[in-house]
Amino acid sequence: MANEVNPFESLQEQIDDAGTYVDVAEDVLERFKQPERVLETTLSIERDDGSIATFDAYRSQFNGDRGPYKGGIRYHPGVSRDEVKALSGWMAYKTAVANIPYGGGKGGIALDPSEYSTAELERITRSYAAELRPVIGPDRDVPAPDVNTGQREMNWIKDTYEKLENTTAPGVVTGKGLESGGSEGRLEATGRSVMLTAREAFSYLGTDLEEVTVAVQGYGNAGAIAARLLADKGARIVAVSDSSGSIHDEDGLDAGAVSDRKAQSGSVTDYEDGEVGSNEDLLTADVDLLVPAALENAIDADLAEDIQADVIVEAANGPLTPDADDVLTDRDVYVLPDVLANAGGVTVSYFEWVQNRQGFYWSEERVNDELETVITDAFEDLQSAFKDRDLPNFRMAAYVVSLERIVDAYEQGGNWP
Ligand code: GLU
Repeated sequence: MANEVNPFESLQEQIDDAGTYVDVAEDVLERFKQPERVLETTLSIERDDGSIATFDAYRSQFNGDRGPYKGGIRYHPGVSRDEVKALSGWMAYKTAVANIPYGGGKGGIALDPSEYSTAELERITRSYAAELRPVIGPDRDVPAPDVNTGQREMNWIKDTYEKLENTTAPGVVTGKGLESGGSEGRLEATGRSVMLTAREAFSYLGTDLEEVTVAVQGYGNAGAIAARLLADKGARIVAVSDSSGSIHDEDGLDAGAVSDRKAQSGSVTDYEDGEVGSNEDLLTADVDLLVPAALENAIDADLAEDIQADVIVEAANGPLTPDADDVLTDRDVYVLPDVLANAGGVTVSYFEWVQNRQGFYWSEERVNDELETVITDAFEDLQSAFKDRDLPNFRMAAYVVSLERIVDAYEQGGNWP
């Protein structure tokens, strides 16, 4: 792990690099390297034993030139102001890659949710939602799930907002439960875009998913669902990992059965088949496709030298350091960046928000079909930019395409004030 790499500096480096290929003045580019604003707050809640606990919490609104700020809320001890700023920037570029009418935002609370009861987590979430209330809204900033948050937390945020505003406003958050105005297909959406991106990438390289072996690092929502959907398309999942370690079976693991085992025991390493190993064993496994689906900075330059996969599809946000990216570009490893590969989550969030606004709900089939169109169109745009403009890699293509879209929206708006 390369935790000393500051993800916000990584983001700024990525934008500076992309800026050299885009017709944008240096002073204007500065605007797209910084969040427009960051809310920083200290939450205090009463614990079940009557004591008071305090938490650092943030919401960064990075860029709103293309629409309301959009992005998840993360509960993790590693949450910091700079991490949230970086993640909010990646969201702005992600929504522009997917070409959906949003800007980028991200929030987080520095806590380990496993240390709190459900009632405590509800109080923490509602207290955070009350702090967010003045700056969020269906046309302003629309939060969603991220690491360690899901439908439950989104339902609490929606309910808190609606109570305080004395209204109904399901489009204030996405990733809600179905009965609270959620969308069919949202839970699977991130994993689905990982599968679709892998399918497009291998077809570009002239291979079918049926011939591909896969290692998945991280077995949460994105990793586990990507593994299952890749397996459904005929890929062989030979290694998976979580924070306890990895398992490897050259004959192929049953992705769904591994999820069931993890749900029961807490770790994929308790699965009955496969050889148990380390996180590094997984990242350097001899596979065709590596899917990092855990946290940022999972792969640094040293580790990148030892990677054997031909293709990396980033399910996590920011799993490679910029130095790792350089090494992999030199080694001709195809990296399909997070802002494309995991854009399924925010894309189906967009469909959820559209359905909330129309009060008309779509079938799962329609959601999946529309998602497939968004991801394949985005892949096509990146692939054309990569080839026609002779860019070093797909990440650069993603930043060039998305930066141009954001710059255009900003310039069309004219100057204010
Ligand atoms: N947290 C997810 C992401 O990083 C989803 C964001 C959203 O749906 O707004 O893309």
